[in-house]
Amino acid sequence: MTTNICLGFAGAIGNTPLIEIPSLSKITGCQILGKAEFLNPGGSVKDRAALFMVEQAEKDGKLKLGGTIVEGTAGNTGIGLALVANAKGYRCVIVMPSNQSPEKIDLLNTLGAEVELVAPVAFSNPEHFYHTAQRRSQSIENAFWADQFENIANSESHYQTTAPEIWQQTGGAIDGIVMSSGTGGTIGGVTAYLKEKNPDIASYLIDPQGSGLYNFITEGIFKAAGTSITEGIGINRGTANFYRAKLDGAFQGSDLDAIEMAHYLLKHDGLFLGSSAALNVVGAVKLAKKLGKGKIIVTILCDGGGRYQSRMFNNQWLAEKQLVPTGSIDRILHD
Ligand code: PMP
Repeated sequence: MTTNICLGFAGAIGNTPLIEIPSLSKITGCQILGKAEFLNPGGSVKDRAALFMVEQAEKDGKLKLGGTIVEGTAGNTGIGLALVANAKGYRCVIVMPSNQSPEKIDLLNTLGAEVELVAPVAFSNPEHFYHTAQRRSQSIENAFWADQFENIANSESHYQTTAPEIWQQTGGAIDGIVMSSGTGGTIGGVTAYLKEKNPDIASYLIDPQGSGLYNFITEGIFKAAGTSITEGIGINRGTANFYRAKLDGAFQGSDLDAIEMAHYLLKHDGLFLGSSAALNVVGAVKLAKKLGKGKIIVTILCDGGGRYQSRMFNNQWLAEKQLVPTGSIDRILHD
């Protein structure tokens, strides 16, 4: 008899390993654990949200036979949606800012999504990918706009799956959780669930440059400065999903921190991660320093480095951006 069989693409989403990062556990004296979301079948944490948004829309009658899924995305939600769409027989239209990695754009085309690239403009501009996706959905018959920023089926996927997995995998002994935020789906769902289980779990955001969330958490106002090479994270407004988050504080992390950590983890731990995952691990180190030795700290490994190979792991690109790693994470450890 066959055992442990999951049904199709959807059935393979979730139940990802929680990986201890030995080198960082040793250095910090805490147990540093990364939820391996890059092992989802679409390669990122956003597979969970894609599936929940589509299945909720089916239940609500918003997505019907022969329908089209439309979404504005930095890429990963689009990849998840494109695969769910193929598996369930829908058409998929993805609107994406043109400054995202060529790997993600190529992949979406390969998967069969209809990709529309728009200029990376401010949210206030009607040409922003968010507003463009909304308009596209209105112009296509039988279309469903997933609206991952405001659709709480996104954070619900993490409340119902990611967070209970973390709770169970740590035997409820988790002391701290930290991650960055894009739509706020992961941080919203995961921290809401964990704080219900144990309000003493230290819950932190790590925010890249160019995002207003750090100032929102620390001072109560959205205020952003600078820019970042990280993809899929950072935002300068509140979203329904982010407002579910239960947070105790926030850190900021730089592009150089993220690049340094990504290269360090590849070399020392065999973990090949994207920029948001690397920044999240920077956050885990910062939280370990804040909480002191002996704690169990969890973060999210959102996607893999292959999705950014031509950028973060390309010496010429790194040199152009003045982000050549030194090979040491001392600056992060002693910051
Ligand atoms: N990392 C990457 C690479 C992403 O694509 C996203 C999604 N935009 C995130 C992190 C953030 O996830 P969330 O939307 O749940 O905040």
